[in-house]
Parts: sequence; structure tokens; C-alpha cells
Amino acid sequence: MKVCILGGGLTGLSAAYALSPAHEVDLLEKQEVLGGCLSSYRIGSYSIESFYHHCFEGDTALLKLLKRCDLSGKLEWLTGSTGSYAGGVLYPMTTPFEILKYPYLSLTDTFRLAILTKKAGKMPVEDLDDIPAHTYVTEHLGQRVWESFFEPLLNSKFGDRKDEVSAAWLVSRIAIRSNRGLSGERLGYVRDGFQQLIDSIVRIVSSQGCRILPGTPLSTLEHYKGGWKVNGEPYDCVLSTLPLQELAAHGGPVIPPVPYQGAACMTLGIERDVCNGIYWVNMKDRAPYGAVVAHTNFVPASRYGEHIVYLASYFSGEPGTDIADRMRNDFCKRFGLSREEIHWERLAIDRYAGPLYVTGYRRLIPGYESNGLFVAGMFSRPNYPERSMEGSVRAGLEVADRILRRLT
Ligand SMILES: Cc1cc2nc3c(=O)[nH]c(=O)nc-3n(C[C@H](O)[C@H](O)[C@H](O)COP(=O)(O)OP(=O)(O)OC[C@H]3O[C@@H](n4cnc5c(N)ncnc54)[C@H](O)[C@@H]3O)c2cc1C
Repeated sequence: MKVCILGGGLTGLSAAYALSPAHEVDLLEKQEVLGGCLSSYRIGSYSIESFYHHCFEGDTALLKLLKRCDLSGKLEWLTGSTGSYAGGVLYPMTTPFEILKYPYLSLTDTFRLAILTKKAGKMPVEDLDDIPAHTYVTEHLGQRVWESFFEPLLNSKFGDRKDEVSAAWLVSRIAIRSNRGLSGERLGYVRDGFQQLIDSIVRIVSSQGCRILPGTPLSTLEHYKGGWKVNGEPYDCVLSTLPLQELAAHGGPVIPPVPYQGAACMTLGIERDVCNGIYWVNMKDRAPYGAVVAHTNFVPASRYGEHIVYLASYFSGEPGTDIADRMRNDFCKRFGLSREEIHWERLAIDRYAGPLYVTGYRRLIPGYESNGLFVAGMFSRPNYPERSMEGSVRAGLEVADRILRRLT
């Protein structure tokens, strides 16, 4: 059978991996490069993700895929430290002692936080789907914990729409992120970058006969009695991994979409570390970015011959044409970096960078099949209540399984 996959991110590539041994698969990707949110820049002799990435020990489907791609040997488990930038000061917040010393939280606040962290993994998150994170935190942990701890975190992830986010997202994120020792959180990274995972899947699926077509956007989609026509070409089956808004705009079925947020992420190659050795700094002070992610305080800078930082911000609507200038200039001023110390900079903007996990989100999740068309992606069940590489690999494999059963 002839199958068309729309979108060459992790969902589309994982589905192609499972479908191409059995069927004739074409994969269409709008961009010239593959990988979607997991694509990378080539800087001199190395690759670096255009959006910061790490994985977790519980990412079973992703780890299995890395193994099949012969990359398990390159997977490293490193330590991710955290901090908070508040009142013009950068506070380390990794160890219990550092959290105790953080002046914006009292001893009682810290104790309540510790209890929540301990029980988060066992809480039925789906019961929290209709409760705003803000309400949950202020009721159970107090206003100060919200303002000093969770509000900056939600601000770094959801920007101006943070108040709409559900407690289900917050609690599940705490559960995912509580695998920490005294020196920090245990996080995975593929030595030399996740681009190798994308390249490896592309190699495997191509050898299985899949036709990969980068630089080929979906322009028209029409239903006909044998299946669907994509850009005029007939297919027995179509799997779309595009945001549902994009799919409907090109003639696909109108499936109520989940709300999305955009991300603007600036990557800078710089002369020295300006984050005091901390990997992830949440901005409590208002800035044009919600977090500074110092990649080379996670992966050693010696691998790159320079330091790499991301300035991460999320937006709804438009990011503003001057976003790059605002981010860079603010970062230089606040973190004491001169323009001469910047080796290079890149800005990645994705309007569909992640679902906005608003209250009631779970009821918006679409099934894998709608009006004779298959859909999977960041909006699918495995990516609730947090989107991830793991969720997209699982969504791709699960929908492929459904297609395989349907086509036989
Ligand atoms: C800032 C950021 C940080 C992240 N950090 C992490 C992390 O640390 N750990 C983790 O596990 N996950 C992380 N993620 C999430 C992870 O990257 C995603 O969940 C995953 O890569 C999404 O894959 P996808 O295929 O579902 O979607 P996408 O990657 O969005 O793929 C969809 C593809 O469809 C293509 N497309 C769109 N329109 C068309 C069209 N008209 N025609 C053809 N193609 C089209 C797009 O170009 C894209 O390639 C992060 C994401 C972001 C944005």
C-alpha cells in the first residue's frame, strides 16, 4: 500500500521507521532539514540543537529507538543543575541546602515543596486537569511558593498564558523532574548531539525504501474514493503529524485543535560561562526570556571549544520583530557579557512549539484516526501532560501500529 506521512519531526520519522518495511512510504517535510523541533544547527565542526534538549531515564521508547539506531553507546547521563535569577542575583537552587538558603522561600515553604516533590509521582494527575496550577499551588503551598518558585518556572514555559495552565501539567512535570541526587538532576544527552538520532532514522528508513522529501510542504489534501490525494498524488493512507490547525488550512478534516504556543529560542556561542556553572536558570525578574539554559554547564564546554547558552521564551501571537535584539541586549547587560564575547548567534522561532496545557486539555486530545485520515504528534495522548521526544516517538509508533493493522 502507498502511505504518505506529513511532517519530518520525531513523530513522522518514528512512524516511517515502523511502516516502511511493510509499505511504500513517502515522507513530506516543509523545511529543508528534518527533525522539526529536534533539528540542529551546524556550527563549524559540531551540531547543536536549535532548541535545548535532554532526555530522562524513564524515556523507554526513546531509549529503545536510540539502541536500534546504534546510539546507546553515545548516550551519557549527566547532571543538570538549576538556579533562579531574582532581584539581580543568580541563586543556585540545586541542593536542598541551596534551596534552604534561597531568601524568597521560608523554611515552611521549602518543607511544603519537598512534600509535594515526594508525592507528585503517585498523584492521579488526570484529576488535576480542570484545576489551574496557580490555584492548586496557592491553596496547597501558599502564595509565596507560587510567586517565588512556580511562577518563574511557568513563566519560562508558558509566558503570558501561564495562568491558564493546569495543575495536571505542573504535578506531572514535578514527578518527571524529581530524579535528582544531591548534586542535581540526572539527565541524558547523546554525545555530539541528537541530530545523530535524526540522521540515523533517516538512513534506516531510506534503506527500507522510504522516500524522504525535505523542502516539500503540504499544499493540497483532497479526499477521493480510494484514499487521499496529497499535492495531487494519490495515496491509500495518509498520516499527518502537523498541528491540526495547519492540516485543516490545507484541506484536511477540521478536527478541534489543541491550543499551541510558540517558542523563540536564541542560541549563542560565547567566550565564557556567565551562569556560575548552573545549567538551567529560571528568570524570576522580568526579562525578554523566561530561562537561560547554559548547555555547556551540562555538557562540557571542551567538546565545543566555546560556551553555548540558549535564551528561551514562549509566546502566543507574534514574538515581535525585535525579539533577537531585545534578548541579546538584555542578556549581555544582566549577565555582564560584552558583545565582543559573542562568537555567533542564531534565533529559532516555531509557532507550534508545544501545546498549551490549559485546564480541560485532556478532553481536547484527538484520537489517532479521524475521517479516514490518521493524525499523531505533539497533540497525541503520549504527549500529555508534557510533550517530549519520548511522547512523539511513542505517538509515531502507536499510530503506525494502528495503520499496520488497518492496512492488513
Ligand atoms: C524549546 C523546546 C525545548 C524542548 N526540549 C525538550 C527536551 O529537553 N526533552 C524532550 O524530550 N523534548 C523536548 N522538546 C519537545 C520535543 O522536541 C518535541 O516533543 C518533538 O520533537 C516533537 O516532534 P513532532 O514530530 O511531534 O513535532 P514537530 O517536531 O513539530 O514536527 C512536525 C513537522 O511537521 C513539519 N510541517 C509543518 N507544516 C508542514 C507542512 N505544511 N508540510 C509539511 N511539513 C510540515 C514541521 O516543519 C515539522 O518538521 C522541546 C521542544 C521545544 C520546542
